Amino acid sequence: MVAGENSMDWEEGAMVRAREALRTYFGYDSFRPGQEEVISSILSGRDALAVMPTGAGKSICYQIPAVLLGGLTLVVSPLISLMGDQVRSLKEAGIRGSYLNSTLTPRQQEVVMARAIAGWYDIMYVAPERLADQRFIAFARQVRVPLVAVDEAHCVSQWGQDFRPAYRGIPAFVNQLPQRPVVCALTATATARVRQDVSRLLDLRNPAIQVNGFDRPNLCLSSFELTPKERTRWLLGYLSTHPTWSGIVYATTRKKVDELAETLRAAGITAASYHAGMEIDERAASQEAFVRDEARVMVATNAFGMGIDKSDVRFVVNCGLPLSLEEYYQEAGRAGRDGEPAECYLLWSRGDIRTCHFFIDNTEFPPETPQAERKTLLRNRERLLSSMIGYAMSDSCLRARVLRYFGQDASTLGAGVVPAGCGGCSVCLGTSADKYLRAARPRRAFGAAGSSSYRTCELPSEAEVTDEDECLFQRLRALRKQLAGEFRIPPYMVFSDATLRAMVRRRPTSEEELLQVSGVGRAKLQRYGDAFLEEINRW
Ligand code: ADP
Ligand code: ZN
Repeated sequence: MVAGENSMDWEEGAMVRAREALRTYFGYDSFRPGQEEVISSILSGRDALAVMPTGAGKSICYQIPAVLLGGLTLVVSPLISLMGDQVRSLKEAGIRGSYLNSTLTPRQQEVVMARAIAGWYDIMYVAPERLADQRFIAFARQVRVPLVAVDEAHCVSQWGQDFRPAYRGIPAFVNQLPQRPVVCALTATATARVRQDVSRLLDLRNPAIQVNGFDRPNLCLSSFELTPKERTRWLLGYLSTHPTWSGIVYATTRKKVDELAETLRAAGITAASYHAGMEIDERAASQEAFVRDEARVMVATNAFGMGIDKSDVRFVVNCGLPLSLEEYYQEAGRAGRDGEPAECYLLWSRGDIRTCHFFIDNTEFPPETPQAERKTLLRNRERLLSSMIGYAMSDSCLRARVLRYFGQDASTLGAGVVPAGCGGCSVCLGTSADKYLRAARPRRAFGAAGSSSYRTCELPSEAEVTDEDECLFQRLRALRKQLAGEFRIPPYMVFSDATLRAMVRRRPTSEEELLQVSGVGRAKLQRYGDAFLEEINRW
């Protein structure tokens, strides 16, 4: 151990470099809550456990150490289908990423490993199953691995909903490396039980534990009781009032998803749909269309969303009740990951409550489950449901309810807000569903009525956009979409909505000024800077 001041200096130096990297690669000025603590722990060689809600910015917690530590950081992730996108995102930021999974041919895998040994990459994403593979172990022993980051770490616990047995093999893998790397576990799952499991089962050594609050201040939460008919009318009114917003509509059954998506398309809204009854290819195409801004609304069952990396989702509307508040907050939390204001609506009816009880009564158990255990499980599910119903019907602050449910003190919420309240829920704001129930029906887009094509352009004509800033924002979005098409990446990878809004506010006229905008790093400046400056200057 280095004593006192020296280690202090070292730590400070490391964090200065971390802040520089945040600026250079990601274009952000400051760390978000919790990021600094996790990064500092990793850089000082100590394991870490980060529990942060979706959208808090967990990825940066291991991506910045990865570039500072040198060698090859391994990221264990259960989401194979997203690895390609994650690596492309890194590339956009100027970080050298790679992945190794079953979508690559054996030959391609060989190439990736050879390049990794030759020092081509800072980061490699792998599925947990890979860690038991002898070839992979032999490979990992040949490179210097300073850090193993375990994403979605709750998958190691049987108490979570996404248990993946291969996560249990992570410590064994880590122990086979010539030098034990720092291990950092990240998850958005809050319960104490899962947290303990993660620490124990991943064999974390004296980890620095960072638990962020679960409040998402930029989300406005609303709950309205509406009949299914009113629901559809409300949705059409809402979508026509926000013609440029992109978001997710959750429905409870496949049939309802198909019907609702059809209704929206008939009204000229580009809607994609997603549920487990669809072919895999169909689902993938649907997801692509949504992520690439070709469909602005995704209508889906709860099968959709895990790990969806689209940061500019402006609204999430739940038509019907999820079976627990945990599930609801997870779905609603997919809105506003870019930190810009976003809206979450729960539209429910008495009929939905009956449907939920029915679901639970018809739970299917493996045949050997003892009677007593079935009873306990059913009682647990009913208890979870009652928290959901309590939220739906609540006549007190919705945000406070969520926070208390996750065991967080909500007493300081909205301190200083006048009139009292969180300032961001339908109860505290006193809003009702009427506004959008009365709104006009959306205009029809060319030739889109009744068709299932996504290809209608929904950018509003400039005459429709009254606000000048909004107009420039829409132009920048159009430019972003065009560039994304040229570079064959999803638009959010070019710049997030938050970054475009910051450009609108600051109206940069030079590269230096553009670089000052949050979200513009060196690599993106080089690639896209001219195009955006030109558009802003022309304005
Ligand atoms: P999580 O994995 O916790 O859900 P992500 O890592 O996907 O969150 O980050 C969510 C969004 O927040 C991303 O668009 C990311 O670029 C952005 N972000 C992360 N850290 C910062 C920061 N320090 N300042 C501004 N934006 C950030
Ligand atoms: Zn409130």
